[in-house]
Amino acid sequence: MTLDPALAARLRELARPPGPLLAAIDLDGTLAPIAPAPELARVPPETLAVLERLAARAHAAIVTGRDLAAARALVPVAGLEFAASHGLETSWPSAPAPDRAAELDALADAVAARLASPALRVERKARSVAFHHRAAPALAEPLRAALAELLPAGLRVQPGRLVLEALPEGGGKDAALLALAARFRPRALLALGDDRTDAPMFRALRALRADGARTLALGVSGGAETPPEVVDACDALLEQADVTAALAALAAALR
Ligand SMILES: [Mg+2]
Repeated sequence: MTLDPALAARLRELARPPGPLLAAIDLDGTLAPIAPAPELARVPPETLAVLERLAARAHAAIVTGRDLAAARALVPVAGLEFAASHGLETSWPSAPAPDRAAELDALADAVAARLASPALRVERKARSVAFHHRAAPALAEPLRAALAELLPAGLRVQPGRLVLEALPEGGGKDAALLALAARFRPRALLALGDDRTDAPMFRALRALRADGARTLALGVSGGAETPPEVVDACDALLEQADVTAALAALAAALR
């Protein structure tokens, strides 16, 4: 497929000296097409190959709601950094998030019992619990109501594409991006993402632009599922099918 020439030009502009460049890249819906269930998601081999080239020529980080172990398993590429669990787990040393395991377990059980629907998919991650209602979008409202009632103090609800996730306060992809920027001092930054959690990362990018960095926030379209926050906060939208080509163009321009 051919990349939109205007987008290709923006990527070349990002890749020009002075560097270094930092690419902060979401996983599900961005590198991996959205799958019917989280365990079915895969990053295509050609995308992994492009990430390997990119990681050899720039700082590249996977910034994701997946937990660290799952993200590393899905993107087994040397040289990548990871900000996982919505920024609560990082591949570099950072202050550990509070351990809320017992409360997350209890919440998972209580919500599952309340909704009593085989279509609800409960995914217990290292630092959070995600309630997926992709198989039954009508569960959204009862799920929201159940979480409003059952959520313990100190946990927050993060909405995503046909998922509501309960996790400890703190983290966030904006904080993850700023931590990466402080670590690598990039002169150019690319952020790529498709969901509500990516919008704060895009807005953090704009703050770095005001400080003189060259930045590009690319929203990845999920069609009708694309949240308005993503459209508002990004510089341009691209199709998920074009993400690999965009990253390949960036890697080629960095050579
Ligand atoms: Mg995503």
